[in-house]
Parts: sequence; structure tokens; C-alpha cells
Amino acid sequence: MSFAHALPVPTPWSAPYWEASRKKRFVLQCCNACDRLIMYPKRFCPFCLSEDLGWRDSAGTGEIYSITVQRAGAPTGFSEHLPYVLIIVRLDEGVQLMSRLIGPDAETARCGDRVKVDFQDVAGADVTLPVFRLDGAKTPANGSRST
Ligand SMILES: [Zn+2]
Repeated sequence: MSFAHALPVPTPWSAPYWEASRKKRFVLQCCNACDRLIMYPKRFCPFCLSEDLGWRDSAGTGEIYSITVQRAGAPTGFSEHLPYVLIIVRLDEGVQLMSRLIGPDAETARCGDRVKVDFQDVAGADVTLPVFRLDGAKTPANGSRST
């Protein structure tokens, strides 16, 4: 898959995230001072301002907090991928991130559906993007969930 104009540009503080992704590992930045998780990677902890940060492996599982299907009007470099599905994932570890939902059921997914991380190599670039796929039973059409 190619992304002509929308590749991540790693910073010194986000490089470990992208390096792990290339190895098909999903990691979360953590603060060694206050033990909280940080998403997206930052230079210092947004909670206690410590610069003593580290990385933890994540299960890469969670649920869809928000979802939209982009069918038209894609930004530069994304037109060839229409339609595509953008989601905000609330990871089981408690932090959220924006990503893409891929797979045959992506366009019919709903808030609350379980997802699991997957990885998508970008053709022609040394970049692997974390993306998500539906994981398990979908939320019923009426929006209620069994627990
Ligand atoms: Zn902290």
C-alpha cells in the first residue's frame, strides 16, 4: 500500500514507537516517574512533567470510541484509498489513538466494537503503520452491548 504524501516523520521522542511498529510490535510510551501511559509520544510526561520516559509493549486491543467512513474529499495522498475508515481506539490500557480500521467489515463497524492492532507496511518506504481490525463479535445494530 502506498501513501504518497502522508508518511510519519519520527521525532527523537517518537522514533521508538515507529521502530517498534516496523518490527510488528505495538508499544506505548510510559512515564517512569508517575507510571502513567502517554499517547501520543511526547518529550516529557504531560501529567508530572518528568523527562524520565520509557516504553511498554501493548496488547493492542481495545474498542472503537469513534468512527467515520471517508468516502469523498480525502486529503492529498489519500484519494486512492477511498473509501477508508478512521477510528479513535480506546485501548484496554486506557489511552486513545486515531488509526485506520481495515478488513472486510470495516465500513459496517460501530462504536464499541472490539479491535486489535495489525500492521501495514508502506510500499517504497521504510515505514510500517499500526492499523486495526475488528476482533470478535460486532456490536448489535441497536447499539446495545452484552457484557
Ligand atoms: Zn509522569
